[in-house]
Amino acid sequence: HVSRPKEVEKQRKDLPIVMMEQEIMEAINENISVIICGETGCGKTTQVPQFLYEAGFGSNNINTRGGIIGVTQPRRVAVLATAKRVAFELGLRLGKEVGFQVRHDRRVGENCSIKFMTDGILLREVQSDFLLKRYSVIILDEAHERSLNTDILIGMLSRVIQERRLNRISLIFHFYIKKFVFTFFLNLHPFCQREYEEQQKRILSGETIEPDKKMYPLKIVLMSATLRVEDFVSGKRIFRNPPPVIEVPTRQYPVTVHFSKRTEIIDYVGQAFKKVLSIHKKLPPGGILVFVTGQREVEYLCQRLRRASRQIVEDAVKINEPVPISEEKSEEENDMKEIAEAFEFQRNSGHDITERFNSYMEEEHVVLSEDESDVSYDSEEESDLEFDNDDGNESKLGVEGSLASLKAAFEAISGKTGPDPDMKAQDVTQTPEQGPNQSGSVTKQSMEKEKGFVVGPMRVMPLYAMLPASAQLRVFEDIKDNERLVVVATNVAETSLTIPGIKYVVDTGREKVKNYNSSSGMETYEIQWISKASASQRTGRAGRTGPGHCYRLYSSAVFTNIFPDFSCAEISKVPVDGVVLLMKSMHIGKVANFPFPTPPETNALIEAERCLKVLEALDDKGRLTPLGKAMARYPMSPRHSRMLLTVIQIMHKVKDYSRANLVLGFAVAAAAALSLSNPFVIQFEGSLVDEDEKNSKIPDKEEKARKKKLKQIAKVSRDKFSNPTSDALTIAFALQCFELSGNQIEFCSENALHYKTMEEMSKLRQQLLRLVFISSLSDDLDQDFSWNHGTLEEIEKAWRVSSEKHPLHLNEEEILGQAICAGWADRVAKRIKGTSIYTDGERKVNAVRYQSCMVKETVYLHRRSSVSKSPPEFLVYSELLLTKRPYIHGATTVKSS
Ligand code: ADP
Ligand code: MG
Repeated sequence: HVSRPKEVEKQRKDLPIVMMEQEIMEAINENISVIICGETGCGKTTQVPQFLYEAGFGSNNINTRGGIIGVTQPRRVAVLATAKRVAFELGLRLGKEVGFQVRHDRRVGENCSIKFMTDGILLREVQSDFLLKRYSVIILDEAHERSLNTDILIGMLSRVIQERRLNRISLIFHFYIKKFVFTFFLNLHPFCQREYEEQQKRILSGETIEPDKKMYPLKIVLMSATLRVEDFVSGKRIFRNPPPVIEVPTRQYPVTVHFSKRTEIIDYVGQAFKKVLSIHKKLPPGGILVFVTGQREVEYLCQRLRRASRQIVEDAVKINEPVPISEEKSEEENDMKEIAEAFEFQRNSGHDITERFNSYMEEEHVVLSEDESDVSYDSEEESDLEFDNDDGNESKLGVEGSLASLKAAFEAISGKTGPDPDMKAQDVTQTPEQGPNQSGSVTKQSMEKEKGFVVGPMRVMPLYAMLPASAQLRVFEDIKDNERLVVVATNVAETSLTIPGIKYVVDTGREKVKNYNSSSGMETYEIQWISKASASQRTGRAGRTGPGHCYRLYSSAVFTNIFPDFSCAEISKVPVDGVVLLMKSMHIGKVANFPFPTPPETNALIEAERCLKVLEALDDKGRLTPLGKAMARYPMSPRHSRMLLTVIQIMHKVKDYSRANLVLGFAVAAAAALSLSNPFVIQFEGSLVDEDEKNSKIPDKEEKARKKKLKQIAKVSRDKFSNPTSDALTIAFALQCFELSGNQIEFCSENALHYKTMEEMSKLRQQLLRLVFISSLSDDLDQDFSWNHGTLEEIEKAWRVSSEKHPLHLNEEEILGQAICAGWADRVAKRIKGTSIYTDGERKVNAVRYQSCMVKETVYLHRRSSVSKSPPEFLVYSELLLTKRPYIHGATTVKSS
């Protein structure tokens, strides 16, 4: 009954997983849980839901297969792209039979059969319906990524499937069995006490129990791009019967891996630029996929490549060699496009937090490349692209000055100093059977350079998580004959998405990782080496459509000696206070006993309990308090929910309803502000010095003037919105003005605000408000915690009153300050007396010093914080970010009372 478009039928024939439909479906029929492993691109995400659908899962009928097919993804990017694709392949309607749900967007039809969602969405659903009654099967995709939410879901689902099995056995015995099983064996209390009580009531009153008859065992399918699944199957901790592992063979063409002879430590983006250009100019057609670390690097590299592409086309025209220009646009139109792109870049840049901080402290920038000759891409031969042996003359200049010592230290670790003759031949062919770890055979591919092909334009596309969905989908569009597709991506493209037609991969070997130190609460965003497994994934992207090449911008010595084998699970890198609160609220007394695929470290658990006690979510004995129970209702971090609940509690006594609604509106806005990066950016005056700009005709003076002007705008803007007691309230006010402004894009550029952050913040605010409102109405909450001052519309209306000056009264500001202090009560810092201007080595630094209660070393309040005008004796902060020195971020004054 499924009719697929013809082209789809044809493409499906080539997918290796389609041959295994029968085997996969048999395994799913015979087992409650199944693991499917297969290289990215083999068809897991798009095909397995279709197999299930065709086998009758996802129907509305009351049978073992009735109920939605749920598919989770760790990333938002993949949710929309795959939902759209699957709807198209099955000839069904997106948002109807095939639905999707991400944080701000839910499109799920009444009789939805397949639902794609982020893992966070499903985690919330488990909380309100532990048995996941609406689902017949859950697919957890990208399980190898080991995202925090997926890990928790795996643990939860392993219990849900037991529940659903029991549920089938007997409804009446069920209640007792469940009590028995959970209390004695698993140390878990009944998950849904209320539900059973209701069930029992119904049974006792002789009511029909129709809804539950529908419930059949739930199936779960874990899908992984790697074979590293032992954490899921070993030790019976998660699954009593280890699920069968189905391996999908991949039609992987050989990929030749080219290591660099030396490893550029700093300017790897510049290296990537050069590599892409030489591939484009010298090698046969085929898409190029470049991996860099963050949004800003993506946009920067795209911009440079587009410019280079235009140059190529212009040069070709000059020497009278007609190169058809694909987009038949006039010069003027192209100029317009360029300006638009530059503008777009400016708006997008600086979103990433590290980058924000780089620009936040712009006087401390490292200039990335001192060496101008390094960037003139067309004057230099990239010898390792020519496939003959005469490639010993890579004449790149080493990094200079202080970077040289870095390099020396670096080479020392890698055990190599200077170019090693043995490393001359470093091309390694990687096939699926032969991972990079066993890559013994060193072969030299002799590939004929195709003579006489014309160098056309490049179609350069960015790909990163924050990119709007429509822009993300553009990488799947067809390209013109003479064009070359170049996709510049973050590790989104490592496994989640398969981009057709990629023949070359350029791998910088880095990724951006947020590291969290659970004892100090200090966070750092670090660019670090990827794992060997990730490198192998990235390499694999080049061998889908034919033999490919992967250019690794690091040496094999670095790869072998420094790269870890696998990247670690997210749960060991992030604070787990939210996880612990979630578990406690689900009556899981001993969190350490929960079947995590990788249990969090004991220290992290202790730290989380300590934090929850300070927030008064847990009592001294570690039991959930009524406040904690209310906090767990809020789908946000415990700190944010604590803050909002504090406001609600205090405002209870307030008689003036419209003021109360305004205060709540602001509290929600402040919570949204504290969840995202600071939108006050000095846009894009960042660490990535635009090399082309430096070399080209644009005079330095003009550029300097532009930067100066931007700084001025930023300063005026900060002053305009500034609330001297709190960064969060400053941003909240800016958000209010943003939402009320007629033209939001213009508003942002006039006020030096980051548009995308503001847009995201506005959506988040609205969503939080709805959630706060709904949560505060649940009838099992203490009266204290429910909002009795107005409806959702009334709060929204109070928020939407524009005002010239800060709309809050002094006492209201204090209430909000108090609430923020309650949420971040363990992150207090005391001012160190003395001048704020002092010298640190050779530099003059202007930052007020503080002593945090969590770390020994001195921390700093940046002078751009809105509380720095009159630095308070005590403050709380939301983030301590170690860049050049530990900087306090998101400060709020603690009022002594
Ligand atoms: P896996 O999940 O195993 O990595 P996918 O199911 O995502 O594989 O992709 C299988 C194939 O479908 C790939 O060859 C890919 O090119 C193609 N494909 C996936 N999504 C899209 C899309 N949105 N548009 C076009 N082709 C797609
Ligand atoms: Mg996939």
